[in-house]
This record gives sequence, C-alpha cells and structure tokens, in this order.
Amino acid sequence: MKTAKFGGSSLANSTQLKKVAEIIKADETRRFIVVSAPGKRFATDKKVTDLLVEFYQKRLKNEATDQLIVDIFKRYEEIGKDFQVEENILDQIYQSLNHLKELAVENNPHFLDEILSNGENNNAKLVAGVLQTEGVNARYIDPQELGIIVTDEPLNARILMSSYKIISRWRNANEVLVIPGFFGYTEKGDICTFSRGGSDITGAIVASAMNVDLYENFTDVNGIFAAHPGYIHHPEPIREITYREMRELSYGGFSVFHDEALMPSYRAKIPVVIKNTNNPDHPGTLITNERENKEQPVVGIASDGGFSMIYLNKYLMNREVGFTLKVLEIFKEFNLNYEHMPSGIDDISIILRANQLNPQLEEDLLRKIAYVIDPDELQIIHNLSMVMIVGEGMKQRVGSMAESTAALARKKINIEMISQGASEVSITFGVHQDREQDAIRTLYYTFFE
Ligand code: ASP
Repeated sequence: MKTAKFGGSSLANSTQLKKVAEIIKADETRRFIVVSAPGKRFATDKKVTDLLVEFYQKRLKNEATDQLIVDIFKRYEEIGKDFQVEENILDQIYQSLNHLKELAVENNPHFLDEILSNGENNNAKLVAGVLQTEGVNARYIDPQELGIIVTDEPLNARILMSSYKIISRWRNANEVLVIPGFFGYTEKGDICTFSRGGSDITGAIVASAMNVDLYENFTDVNGIFAAHPGYIHHPEPIREITYREMRELSYGGFSVFHDEALMPSYRAKIPVVIKNTNNPDHPGTLITNERENKEQPVVGIASDGGFSMIYLNKYLMNREVGFTLKVLEIFKEFNLNYEHMPSGIDDISIILRANQLNPQLEEDLLRKIAYVIDPDELQIIHNLSMVMIVGEGMKQRVGSMAESTAALARKKINIEMISQGASEVSITFGVHQDREQDAIRTLYYTFFE
C-alpha cells in the first residue's frame, strides 16, 4: 500500500488534476491521498493559502473581504465545473468560505489556523469529487474523523503519539481516502495547523499510521538535485539518499521537503520517494534508512547565509574547568541559540544566526563575555555563509576534507570555520557571504564532475 501526497502545484488547475487522477488510477495500491491547497497556476499567480493569509489580514483590519472570497471560490469552481463534480460539493466549498467571515477575531487563538486550514479542507473535498467523476471510489475524510489529533500549539501543532493507533483503524477502508493536509484537531476539538508547508507532515503521519510500503510525495520537480540549480547549471539529480543525509541537507538550506515531515516516516522506517506529477515515470529521489550505493562520498551540497561568528581566544583555556559552560551560560542569558561551536586548544568560535542580534544586544553580549571570561582576544565576524557537504560515504573514505580545503584554497576562498560532527555525515565550511556561490561551485565540481 502507498500514501501519495500531492503538493499545491499538482492541484492548481484542471490539467494538473487530470494528471493526478491518472496517477491514482494507474496504481490501485495508492490508497491514502493527502492534498495541499491549490497552488500557483502560473509564475505570478498566488497560492490559495497566501490568499487566505490576505483574508486574515483584512479581517484584522476590518476591511471588506467579499471579493477575496469570490476569487478564492473561483479557483475551486473552475476545476469543479471542468470535471462536472456533484453540485453540492461546490455549494459546501462556497459555504465554508463564507463561514470564515463569521469567525470571531478576538479571543480566538485558533483564528488563523481555521482560516488557513480552509484551503486544504476544501481542496480535499474537491479532489475526492474529481476522482469520483474519474471512476475512482474515493471519499473525502475530515482529519478529526480520521484521528489526526494534535497538540494545542497554534500554527505549529505536533501530532500526539496516541493518534497513530486511531488513524490505523482506517487502514482497510474500502474507499480511496482523500485527506486534507496541513492540520489536525486538538483534544478539545479546535483546528490547529502544522507549520507552513505542513501537508508533507500529514502525508508522513498517514504513511506511518497505515504502515504503508511507500510514501510518495508528488511535486513539480524530478526529485532532489545535488546542488541548487540557481548556482549550478543542470546539477546531478539524487537517486537515493538516507534520512540522515536528507535531514542535514534540509537544515543546510534544501527546501524541497518539510524537514519535520521526515520524522514519522523515519521512525516507522517507511521509504519516501519524491516524484514529479508532470513526469510520473521518472524514478525521482528515494529517501531510505540505508543507502545501497555508498561509493559516492558526497550526495549533496547545501548552503545558507545570514550567520555571525563570535571568536574568543584565551591562553591556557583548556586548563580552565567549566570554561565553555560559562560562555554558553551567557548565551542562555541573552536568549541566543547557536548552531555550531568548533574549538581549538585555546579558542572557541560560536556560530549563530545573525537575525537574533541587533547592535545594542551585540555590544552588551561582547561586554558580558569580556567581563566574565576575560579573553585575550574577542571578535565578532558578520556576513558569513555556511556551506555544507553531505554524504554518509565520507565516513568510509579518507580525504574528503583534504580535497575540499585544497579546492577552496585553489580558488582563494578563505575558510573562516570548519565543523564536522562525530557522525561524519557532513562537513560545514564558514565562508564570507560574497564567496558562497564560488564555494558551492568549487565543492560541487570537486565531488561531482
Ligand atoms: N498550503 C500550506 C502552505 O502553503 C501547506 C502545504 O501546502 O503544505 O503552507
């Protein structure tokens, strides 16, 4: 059995929906279908979820929303009419959109959750209707009825462990279940959404609860590439990647797949495949627990900007018990999260996201470190990018670090920081943001061509 999740671009118009219906009809084991809200039909178009955000903002400012509701409704209506879905489906969608106008703005912690979830919810009803006209025995199911019960954290819900068992009761349903992604219900019965892009999370939860053999995540690309196509012309596609590698790449800036979404399928050891609705015969990218081919040391190169680094040096630091603890306590006091902390005998660098800082905070922080630690040298360096090479194959192979640093040196790219975890799944290089692109290209051509 399979769970198939379709992203917004796969459901944006009738042409796309026709492809989705063909994909579902082509394989009877696709039993659980999770859908996003309709996405963009063309580059300058708006996603329905973004229109719903606009609706929310207008409601807050008490501005007229009638036209917006009409515009959103048209998105469903066009598709519904093309497929001649049952009339009452479009009526239900229209009513549920109008119901949004009646929601209380004040003292309503789930106000935005309810508005946002409307996109997925209506789309699941529409998709179920479309599949029926295509001869599929499909049925819309509300996440509450299915059993997606979540924590009460508006816009950032997490699944409750007890949900899995409840959801699994639907494993042998006779119909193909069409499930709206992106939200669940709290134990009290309020709608609560996952973070943005969270339909991937629903897909993984359903896949895991139903214990399917494969979770197919359909998008509009042939899977994941080894580097960002904006930086590398025609980067190599990744055929197979492990969960750990994927997690590192998502952290490092790859945004194909919601990173929280990997958790449920990872735990349940369910392979995930990222496939293209517009090219369903392409094998896509398979994410598994174990990768068969580990000959290739590096599977992908990611990068992310907007980092700062605090560097401190103190002679004989290694002899001082609790030195790092003292530094980190200061970070805690300033409520700062750090991302990496490579250290030498007498020095430590602490890398953090620069958006947590402001000039005043920075001054106070440095003053406090100077006072408590009394370092010989203390510096803050801004505008850093982290470039990360990822691959479980590096562990079994000598020289990945040497090859990388040699290549960067040849291009005269100064490395401000190097960090490698004990797991050896990735190596991170901190470089000045002006050299980020050069660094990616250099590392890509070192490992891929
Ligand atoms: N529609 C939601 C969003 O745009 C969730 C999703 O598509 O996964 O964030």
